[in-house]
Amino acid sequence: MKPIVAIVGRPNVGKSTFFNRVTRTKDAIVDDFPGVTRDRNYGDVNWEGVEFTLVDTGGFLENDEDDFAHHIRFQISQAIEDADVIVLVLDGKSGVSPFDRDLIEILRTVTKPVFYAVNKIDGLEQEDRLYDFYALGVENLYPVSAEHRYGINDFLDDLICALPRADSTPSQEEMIKLAVVGRPNAGKSSLINRLLGENRLVVSEVPGTTRDAIDSVCHINGKSYTLIDTAGIRRKGKVSKKIEKFSIIKALRSLDRCDVALIVMDADEGITEQDISIAGYAYERGCGCVFLLNKWDVIEKDTNTAKRFYERLRMEAKFLSFAPAMTISALTGLRVQRIFKLADDVYSQYASRIGTGQLNKILETAIERNEPSLHKGKRLKFYYATQVSSKPPTFVCFVSYPDAVHFSYKRYLINQIREGAKLDKTPIRLIFRQRT
Ligand code: GDP
Ligand code: GDP
Repeated sequence: MKPIVAIVGRPNVGKSTFFNRVTRTKDAIVDDFPGVTRDRNYGDVNWEGVEFTLVDTGGFLENDEDDFAHHIRFQISQAIEDADVIVLVLDGKSGVSPFDRDLIEILRTVTKPVFYAVNKIDGLEQEDRLYDFYALGVENLYPVSAEHRYGINDFLDDLICALPRADSTPSQEEMIKLAVVGRPNAGKSSLINRLLGENRLVVSEVPGTTRDAIDSVCHINGKSYTLIDTAGIRRKGKVSKKIEKFSIIKALRSLDRCDVALIVMDADEGITEQDISIAGYAYERGCGCVFLLNKWDVIEKDTNTAKRFYERLRMEAKFLSFAPAMTISALTGLRVQRIFKLADDVYSQYASRIGTGQLNKILETAIERNEPSLHKGKRLKFYYATQVSSKPPTFVCFVSYPDAVHFSYKRYLINQIREGAKLDKTPIRLIFRQRT
């Protein structure tokens, strides 16, 4: 599990430039489903072999009813609660604003590492702009230019030293780890209570991987499950109802640790954009997924209601077409016990391995049936493929020109693997490598 570094700060100080500067490496993500990564404001970084996830919290200011100061304080309070390290970006060009003072006051009380990046210092000759900021009495002041990369390397060198070490959580190996995710009020905590309540006798609480996280372990039908960060889900934010309560950091953290994500949606509200973007995070993290359309008890139904919901879901979240979906009610308990069975089905595929012989037979047949188009007049040649890891099943396929495999052809091959290896409910990764 990677540590999470959150970027906070006023609008226009250069947060998103900074984010892009640090996350956009040469291996830009080319996705099979272009829409998924559209508004991506989190990204994985590998600096000197140390990995972390960078989150630009500024990207989540959606609710325009509240003033921005309110938003930023909220954004910061979430980052303080959820992230491992906080980076406050300041504007070295416009200088210190009273609002910065406020933020620094808040951050001073935090026990987690905080870095202060004074941005828009576009070179050594502009470093005198720092003096104003030194007057604020903070240490860890870094002059940087997100635009020109000035100071970024030094900043990253120090940042990685402040990251908590990836801890090895022992003894949870045999358990199926479930994360409950979804937007505020979808019914996550009701669902957790229902899942644990009905299996009351066998629940125990174990510390999660971060300070305040508490997981719940339960044993059902001879299997063990860990429900990730149940404490965090039950604990209601202290912030006002009006403000967006969704914490992307919490969601990413749970998704990073889980085998199967239970994506809870409020059927009464319908499927919203935020539901789809949460599904997008789950897709990107490569976990198994189950869609749960909750509050089914209040839906006025005819025979086609569920079908219409599923169709809509399939259309909106094409990228998760392999994720099973089910209508439930956390309130009445409708179909709640079936969730474990569904999660088992997903997990068994998610953790499965298929033999090299079988894999290559599937691909040979697929390529024979539908040959890839020529690449600059040359035939794209496929050599062989092998499964390199599971959770999720990941295959490497050696070819003559990896860049020449069109994404639609890649999708075709993935679908053929799904069909041939009976992996219809799990994400699959297919990577093309040049045969050397
Ligand atoms: P955000 O609202 O905090 O995400 O800020 P943006 O990343 O959108 O940047 C706001 C403005 O500052 C844009 O016009 C950027 O081009 C500019 N900017 C960002 N970083 C730098 C920098 O390092 N130097 C200079 N001179 N301008 C920058
Ligand atoms: P969370 O923010 O996702 O944890 O959502 P909660 O579990 O707090 O639920 C939000 C609201 O929806 C509460 O008032 C719940 O009582 C209600 N709720 C949750 N599940 C159901 C359900 O299945 N049916 C109905 N009718 N209400 C539900």
